[in-house]
Amino acid sequence: IDMLDATDLEYLQRRPPVVTIMGHVDHGKTTLLDSIRKTKVAQGEAGGITQHIGAYHVDVVHEGRSQQVVFLDTPGHEAFTAMRARGTRVTDIAILVVAADDGVRPQTIEAISHAKAAKVPIVVAINKIDKEGAQPERVKQELTEYGLVADDWGGDITMVPVSAIRGENLDTLLEMILTVAEMEDLNANPNRAAKGTVIEAHLDKARGPVATLLVQNGTLRVGDIVVAGSALGKVRAMIDDRGDRVEQATPSFAVEVLGLREVPRAGDEFDVFANEKEAGAIASGRATFQRDSRLLQGGRISLSGFSQQAKEGVLKELNLILKADVQGSLEAIVGALTQLPQKEVQLRLLLSAPGEVTETDIDLAAASNAVIIGFNTTLATGARQAADQAGVDVREYSIIYNLLDDIQGAMEGLLEPELVEEPLGSVEVRAVFAIGRGAVAGCMVLSGKVIRNCKVRVRRNNNVVYEGVLDSLKRMKEDAKEVNTGFECGISLSGFSDWADGDIIEAYRMVTKRRTLSA
Ligand code: GDP
Repeated sequence: IDMLDATDLEYLQRRPPVVTIMGHVDHGKTTLLDSIRKTKVAQGEAGGITQHIGAYHVDVVHEGRSQQVVFLDTPGHEAFTAMRARGTRVTDIAILVVAADDGVRPQTIEAISHAKAAKVPIVVAINKIDKEGAQPERVKQELTEYGLVADDWGGDITMVPVSAIRGENLDTLLEMILTVAEMEDLNANPNRAAKGTVIEAHLDKARGPVATLLVQNGTLRVGDIVVAGSALGKVRAMIDDRGDRVEQATPSFAVEVLGLREVPRAGDEFDVFANEKEAGAIASGRATFQRDSRLLQGGRISLSGFSQQAKEGVLKELNLILKADVQGSLEAIVGALTQLPQKEVQLRLLLSAPGEVTETDIDLAAASNAVIIGFNTTLATGARQAADQAGVDVREYSIIYNLLDDIQGAMEGLLEPELVEEPLGSVEVRAVFAIGRGAVAGCMVLSGKVIRNCKVRVRRNNNVVYEGVLDSLKRMKEDAKEVNTGFECGISLSGFSDWADGDIIEAYRMVTKRRTLSA
């Protein structure tokens, strides 16, 4: 669930799918978008009635009802890639456009890997079927090599042959998108303050900072106090993709927003706050957070609780649910968590929300094997009992330092312990006594101690001449368990009897040590 808090669960409503069109250059992405929009943006944007806001929606009649699909008009893959790198997920479905006369090309392959990494379902539009030399079946064949098998070939990927230029089969394509969307369970809670992602932003000479915001949860309204990335502002006006001024935007819709004081970055998250004071605190917190998270390569933690990081090389994960008194605390904690080394153990923030630790949080923790962190907050009635029953670890803190220390400890606890050598002592051979076929070394413990059955390394002129186990340790001819510094002892080893005066015996043992996280 993206951008949803536990409190939203009871108010969920279906939202339209947000779709991105990807594919190799010249395969018809722009034409397809335009054709679907049924306007001719490409032939003169200025004259058109549509506003270019980086996203638009279309109405589709599906299963007897009018439903909507929202298209993100991202230039190439750039925005998509940038957002993914920041751990933001904006796309529900990717349409992969492949020209039937050209087949799979490098950017096709790139698009497939992006969509796969982001776990975004793919619908393939095999375009330009009107062209001579179009070979839709060959495209299907080629796509199988990249793990995309058409449903009519026994696979699970919908592939629709279309002609973007003639507008052929676009209805089928849209229907297929809605069919895939139905399986995705796309929900949001419109009855709350809005949050979502900045799709595009720029500075307009006349209008000031202009940002296209995709609402992913809640409803955005004119007059709302917004923090987008670290940019603060009050929504002065909102314009939709048809160029109309609107008063509100519900989940999955994108609007151009005027009123921000600075230009946010594409991919930044935005939130609505109840008052300017709180928003101001968050905005400055975000500025720090953005700076900090830039330090963290690849941004492994995302505020939305949805980490898109590829899992390669990451061995372990620690799932967290974070509840705190106020949003400002959350920002500070998340900012600090991103600083923890995550090369061996990766932190996954499933949920971070202000408020009490509730039974819903416990359920989520139980289902995802997460640890719940409560900061300056309490447990709701029944939550403690639920946690005990479900065996969920709820930890409460009021000092960030202690919280971080514990999290680091918990992460280290997930690492395999390391077997390390612990030196015991050093022993010098002062006399050698031949006994039968073997020999006993008459020794002096120079430092530390020596223990029966410990490991030993015999050095002569600094070269190791033998390594093994100390089989027999005697003190005054009696078997001894250990002999300390300054005492004499007799040592014999079953595998070694070639002693010489002046040999040094290093005594050590192997111990398991909890590993620390490497940066
Ligand atoms: P993009 O780079 O993927 O956005 O591709 P465009 O939409 O700019 O299209 C590239 C070229 O292919 C343009 O000359 C289009 O007119 C042409 N084109 C796009 N779709 C079709 C189609 O369905 N049939 C034919 N014959 N040409 C198409």
